[in-house]
Parts: sequence; C-alpha cells; structure tokens
Amino acid sequence: MLKRCGRRLLLALAGALLACLLVLTADPPPPPVPAERGRRALRSLAGPAGAAPARGLEAAAAAAAPAALAREVHSLSEYFSLLTRARRDAGPPPGGAPRPADGHPPPPAEPLAPHDVFIAVKTTRKFHRARLDLLLETWISRHKQMTFIFTDGEDEALARRTGNVVNTNCSAAHSRQALSCKMAVEFDHFMESGRKWFCHVDDDNYVNVRALLRLLASYPHTQDVYIGKPSLDRPIQATERVSENTMRPVHFWFATGGAGFCISRGLALKMSPWASRGHFMNTAERIRLPDDCTIGYIVEALLGVPLIRSGLFHSHLENLQQVPASELHEQVTLSYGMFENKRNAIHVKGPFSVEADPSRWAN
Ligand code: UDP
Ligand code: MN
Repeated sequence: MLKRCGRRLLLALAGALLACLLVLTADPPPPPVPAERGRRALRSLAGPAGAAPARGLEAAAAAAAPAALAREVHSLSEYFSLLTRARRDAGPPPGGAPRPADGHPPPPAEPLAPHDVFIAVKTTRKFHRARLDLLLETWISRHKQMTFIFTDGEDEALARRTGNVVNTNCSAAHSRQALSCKMAVEFDHFMESGRKWFCHVDDDNYVNVRALLRLLASYPHTQDVYIGKPSLDRPIQATERVSENTMRPVHFWFATGGAGFCISRGLALKMSPWASRGHFMNTAERIRLPDDCTIGYIVEALLGVPLIRSGLFHSHLENLQQVPASELHEQVTLSYGMFENKRNAIHVKGPFSVEADPSRWAN
C-alpha cells in the first residue's frame, strides 16, 4: 500500500517536472508593448510626425476613422483593427481605379502632360471683365494650351488675349437650359480634342494646375473616373422621365460645378449616348435639373459609376475660411464669393487689405 502510494507520488513529481521543463523551453511571452508605441505608430498614420506610411493609407486611415484617430488608442488590438480597416479602404475597389484619398492623391498611375487635360471654363459676356480678366492674369496665363473658355458673346479684347475662346451661342442667362447648353458644347469640344481628361470649372474658380495634374495622374484615364466634391450631404432626389407619361424617383450624387470636377476619357466615351451631340440637353430635360446635376445623373444613375469625392476641390458654397493656409498649395481648385452677405474667401495673412487689393482671391 505504502509502496503504491510512493510510486504515485513519484509519477506525480515526474509529471510536474516535465510540465515545468516544457514551460521553460517554450518561447518566452512577448514583453508588453508600451501603449506609447502603439499611439506613436498611429499618430504617424494620422499626421506628418513620425515615419510616413503610404500616402493612400494615411489618408484612408484618416478618412476611415477620424474619430478613432483623434482619440487615444488604448489597445494593440484596436490599433491593428484600425490598420486593417485602413488597408482595406485604401485598396482598389473591384474593377476600378484606386480609391480616392480625400485630400492626398495616391501615387501616379500614369504619366500626365499638361496637354492631356482639357480644362473648360464656363463664363458669360458680362463677366469677361469682372471675372475672366483675373483668371487670364493668374492661372490661365500660365496654362493657355490646356484652357478653353466657353462664353456666350463675342469679345475682341478677349480673343486677343487667348485663342481658345468658344462662343457657344447659348443664351446669356443663368437658367437651367442656358447652363446645360454650355456644358453640352464643352463636352463636345472635349470629345473632339482627343485629350485624356475633361475638367470643368466656373469663372470664379482658381485652378492649381500642378495639383490637378498630380491628382489626375493617380488614375488611369481609360477607366471610369468622375472626381469632384458634392455640395450636398446626401444624394440629390429627383424625378426622372422615363417615357411620355411615366416618371420615377431617382437619387444620385453629383459634383458641384462651382467647385470644378473632372471626368476621364474612358468614362466620357460611355457617357456619349446621353451627353454628346445634342443629347445632353435632352438628358437634362429628363430630370429638369442644372448642368452639374445632369452630369451626376448620367454617371451615377445611368452608368452606375460612383463619384469619387475629393477634398481638394472648393466652391464658395462651403466655408472657405476652413481651408488651412498651410495646405493651400495642395488644393486643386479654390473659389470666392459672398455667403449670407459676408465675404467667403480663403483666409491668408498678407500685406494688402481687401480695399487696397479687392481682386485678390483670398484676404
Ligand atoms: N453664368 C452664366 N450665365 C449667367 C450667369 C452665370 O454662364 O447668366 C456662369 C458664370 O460665368 C459662372 C457660373 O455660371 O461660371 C456660375 O455663376 P455664378 O458664380 O454667378 O453663380 P453661382 O451658381 O456660383 O452662385
Ligand atoms: Mn459662383
């Protein structure tokens, strides 16, 4: 009996020893990672400090979880789940161009020269002196080969300054039909130009052509790309006429024309049945909305191609004082105007007052 007990004790002791040995020879557990390391790595995702990750990833992380980035990250699992989400968001959508970075364009997809881009500026006779002259003295003067002015009245003084003036013969009005008439002519001229990209801007837009080229170069022009910034926070609800007496509701996003937007040739070719050679006006009549909405309708509702939002386009429908001066040089378009009886312009400190230099873009 005592002998059996002794053997059992011996066996138990041998088992315990083996267990101890196993624990000692196994990989030691990783030392606890200081919370600070996780936080710093995450900060480098969110901002310029620290090692910079891929730009798309950085922006996608910021876009994917701004709230999570703003607060401290308390656990590694939280950090890694954020990274995974950021990577997923940064990846290309199925069958499409790289996902937009709301702010920073991803790396170049193809080299792009200035003459690959067709910039259409919409104007009207009464704004030739008040608005267009300013553009000719600033950004257009350096990019005359890229820029085409679409207006509604002859102007010899303007023709002397640039050869690329198109008199659309559309009515000089701010009506839905007149604006669509101009957009139709812009689209047809772009199609005839053979260029890779169509960009539309208003005559109160400043275009930073270098930033524009950098942005467009990050997408293949042969794919479906419609890029700009919506001015509404939800898709526009419209009624679409599908036959003589049938209407049906439709909703879609559109890039506001006053901020400027661009379309790749690949997409423009698909839009042609609804946008080229007189069809644009008919399509606009189908939804009875302005020209920029009609573009969104054709791209999103009829072709099923989603708008790529970019934070780099700015109209005077947004509060322009919120564009940080330090990021001004990265913006693709800027604008100016009045909002609720106040001057809405980029805030930049400088030696001139608005009174001394009333035509400057920012004050
Ligand atoms: N515009 C036009 N015909 C007009 C009035 C305006 O073609 O009778 C053009 C104008 O040149 C600008 C765009 O439409 O490119 C938008 O006009 P504006 O900035 O005056 O108005 P918004 O729609 O921005 O308030
Ligand atoms: Mn405007």
